[in-house]
Amino acid sequence: MSDIDRLRQDFCDELSRIASDTDLKRAHDRFLGRKGGVIATLMKTVATASPDERRTLGQSANAFKTEIEDALAARQAELAAARAPVGAVDVTLPGREIPLGHAHPLTIVRGQIEAIFSRMGYEILEGPEAEDDYHNFQALNMPPEHPARDMQDTLYLGRPIVQSIAPSGPPATLLRTHTSAMQIRYMEAHRPPVRIIALGKVFRRDNLDLTHTPMFSQFEGLVVGEHVTMADLKGTVTAFAREIFSPDTPVQIRPSFFPYTEPSAEVYIGCVFCAGAGCPVCKRTGWLEIMGSGMVHPAVFEAVGYDPERYTGFAFGTGIERVAMLKYKVDDIRLFYENDLRFLEQFPF
Ligand SMILES: [Zn+2]
Repeated sequence: MSDIDRLRQDFCDELSRIASDTDLKRAHDRFLGRKGGVIATLMKTVATASPDERRTLGQSANAFKTEIEDALAARQAELAAARAPVGAVDVTLPGREIPLGHAHPLTIVRGQIEAIFSRMGYEILEGPEAEDDYHNFQALNMPPEHPARDMQDTLYLGRPIVQSIAPSGPPATLLRTHTSAMQIRYMEAHRPPVRIIALGKVFRRDNLDLTHTPMFSQFEGLVVGEHVTMADLKGTVTAFAREIFSPDTPVQIRPSFFPYTEPSAEVYIGCVFCAGAGCPVCKRTGWLEIMGSGMVHPAVFEAVGYDPERYTGFAFGTGIERVAMLKYKVDDIRLFYENDLRFLEQFPF
């Protein structure tokens, strides 16, 4: 028993000197080593004791062994804790790279459109996304029974469609189907000359597919003054197409129909995918339609109190998504709204 007391004192001295993992291992080997360790030797001694003493000595030796194991484990935890102080900064570690975001491709294209028309002296406008029937349809030469309303499937707010468009009913509120409504709002508040573009979200009852979404964005241009002609329209849309796509983009104007312009025209550019040679995207024609346009219909001028005998004007408009798809050769409009970083990261800023 006195040997155990002496060894315990010995262990306490050793424990107090442990300052590193090497010290810890040395103490472990010395006291708990299977061959020649202090405890192993002690157990052999116990085995040789007389049967009377063996039981008491064995219990003491085992208690001592447990004591050593616990003390070494506690010391090991202390050493580990000392190595990693809370809140410490290792100034030798390399810096962490913080990813830098950039604008969404539609925002990029919208910014480019705004920049082009700003340079041409246009005022840039936004407008309400919830519109009334008058500004979205009636003032644009589309009275309630006008067949052209079939071209646009409208999302009405709060009331069934039939009731909403009934001439005698209260004014209907709807989600604007085009940015053209802003033409009316602007002309109601300003006298000519007018030179504006309006940009923003528009809404249609379209099903999601490669080229349609229920919400997309448009931009719309309007110029009104004395002696504004179709030649001005053609020059303007040609200049725009060559700035947004490339300086040698072929541009073509073809007759079309819109209720709020007369004459109306569709603007085509040489196919950006095949350079005019013919491909599936342009249906082998070499041309792609990029926007609708035309000379403002006299009925629209009458609706806002402009004299159609004195003033003429032109308007044009298209989807910002359509421009972005052609510019960046994107073949599925849904990619713009899925927030997939593998897609979004490919765009310049
Ligand atoms: Zn093509």
